[in-house]
Amino acid sequence: MIRVLDKRIADKIAAGEVIDRPVSIVKELVENAVDAKASSITVEIKNGGKSYIRVTDNGCGIPEEETETAFLRHATSKIQTVGDLDSIETLGFRGEALASICAVSRTELVTKCKESKAGTRLLIHGGEVTLHQQTGCPDGTTVIVTDLFYNTPARRKFMKSDSAESGMIIDFVSQMALAYKDIRFRLISNASVLFSTAGDGDRFNTIVRVYKNINPNNLTPVCYQEGKLRLEGYISTPAQTKNSRSSQVFFVNGRAVHSKVIEKGLTEGYRERLFEGRYPVAYLFLEADPADIDVNIHPNKKEVRFDQEAEIIDFVTRAVRISLGSETAMVSGASLFREKSSEDTAKDAHAEQVDIKKFLSSNVQEPVSAHSLDPSFLSESEPVISAPVFLKNAEQLSADLENSADSFFPSLEIETPEIRPFNFQDLQITGSIFHTYITAVTSDAFFLIDQHAAHERIFYEKLVREYEQDEKIRQPILIPLILEVSLKADADSVNWLTALAQMGYTIHEFGPGTYRITEIPAFMTLEEADQFAQDFTDQISDSTNLKNSVVIQKLIMKSCKSAVKGGDVLSMEEMEALLRDLSACVNPFSCPHGRPTFVRLTRYEIERLFKRIPS
Ligand code: ADP
Ligand code: MG
Repeated sequence: MIRVLDKRIADKIAAGEVIDRPVSIVKELVENAVDAKASSITVEIKNGGKSYIRVTDNGCGIPEEETETAFLRHATSKIQTVGDLDSIETLGFRGEALASICAVSRTELVTKCKESKAGTRLLIHGGEVTLHQQTGCPDGTTVIVTDLFYNTPARRKFMKSDSAESGMIIDFVSQMALAYKDIRFRLISNASVLFSTAGDGDRFNTIVRVYKNINPNNLTPVCYQEGKLRLEGYISTPAQTKNSRSSQVFFVNGRAVHSKVIEKGLTEGYRERLFEGRYPVAYLFLEADPADIDVNIHPNKKEVRFDQEAEIIDFVTRAVRISLGSETAMVSGASLFREKSSEDTAKDAHAEQVDIKKFLSSNVQEPVSAHSLDPSFLSESEPVISAPVFLKNAEQLSADLENSADSFFPSLEIETPEIRPFNFQDLQITGSIFHTYITAVTSDAFFLIDQHAAHERIFYEKLVREYEQDEKIRQPILIPLILEVSLKADADSVNWLTALAQMGYTIHEFGPGTYRITEIPAFMTLEEADQFAQDFTDQISDSTNLKNSVVIQKLIMKSCKSAVKGGDVLSMEEMEALLRDLSACVNPFSCPHGRPTFVRLTRYEIERLFKRIPS
């Protein structure tokens, strides 16, 4: 028998499609807050959102007479006519979210428009309004959702652990905070503030506040444009990598998306700079002509398709390469001068960011105003979670934070940073200190270059290149080197003999466990060649797969550590040669083990150290 379903059953079925877990509720409520033009949005959850979700905004509010309508299916203020469908500028428009949410939970709405004297409070349980009253409340809207899925046991069972559910919510709110950098976002979980952004439009500041596990000193800006394509954001230098892609967030035309294409471009941009299995941190914002892309906005899985995939990959690769070759990809000396608390890091990062901008725009006409250069205005900023915060209740806390908003975060006029490639030719060597560090200057910065780390980098890249090249450049040696290897290595000699031969060694068996080297790679000294071959063979174990070029690269990396020695007094010519060789490297700013080769102190940073500029 065919029957039209009872409204409540129909609502429950429909709700399941939009609302399948706590994060989908958070998503709908936050999107409504954005659509309501809020400048401040607070999300509070308990137990991963299973027991409590609150979203508070300071947006336009809902007029009292429309509050109940808002919860009806297909009730929306965002489109009026069929024509409106073609020019949607809001995140929602189907008018289903509130109806779906209230069908599967206990929902409370508190809302007030600026024009109204009083606000409205509505309680809805299982889709039925159980209370409707006037109430005093601030402008804006709060929606509180409890008893989630109380009437849909299947959904309730389908939820994952608290931490898995809150993980999804944290990811979502983090991405929204980045995408809407002009909105202040605050995320509270089980009464502690996970993060809170300034909403001052400063992307770097936002990233630093949201992703506290990332060291801001290891981020370098990306800013590149070609025709209608523009890529902005921040990526990590090779000094900070992760073992998964989980710290990569991509946005296309303002929306967070998954994109294999951007991923590929990013990976390609880092090629030869990272080991296999390591992934950079990346927050990338791509702007493209909407006509050239197709965003499939499935509620939880946003995939974007590009008409010209290869073009996008190349574009992202270029942008990343330029960024990694720039001076800002170098370690800044200023960050090393004092011990820092995690709170300081964010402040410093901000100051540093301003530094970078100041530094980058070498042709600054008017420096950024003294006030905005002064990072101390951040000092009274919201607490990075510390013990006393837990003592306050969350309501009080959020009220405090809400009030503190504007006075503590004067907006900064931030232009996008100019990415200037680092030009080795501008470096003027001034000498060396401790027989270890070369000192050099450009017109606006001072540099320390670690001889040993630089040499390691050069040695490593030359060896890898030699290994991959067909033609080897060898030098014969007068007295052959004798190499003695372990039993293990001896048993497996065919493989590593081939590998060493491929790097430019001529080496033959001489007796049990003993090998004779008669030629070495052209760029090595005798000692280096000897030490390297020794270290290389020492690393060989039964499981070493010497046919895998990544394994070879890792072995080379480990072995060049002791092969290259530091502490030599270098002549001016030798220092110049070292820097010339370094400039030819793919990744000149860190040694193969990830330590910096360069430390940079800008003139501005130096002036701050001497208190010529207030800090
Ligand atoms: P949609 O967002 O697709 O319009 P919803 O069910 O999410 O549908 O919301 C229904 C309506 O309720 C919206 O069109 C809007 O007018 C109103 N509304 C919902 N949330 C808010 C909010 N936070 N602030 C102001 N109005 C809101
Ligand atoms: Mg909506």
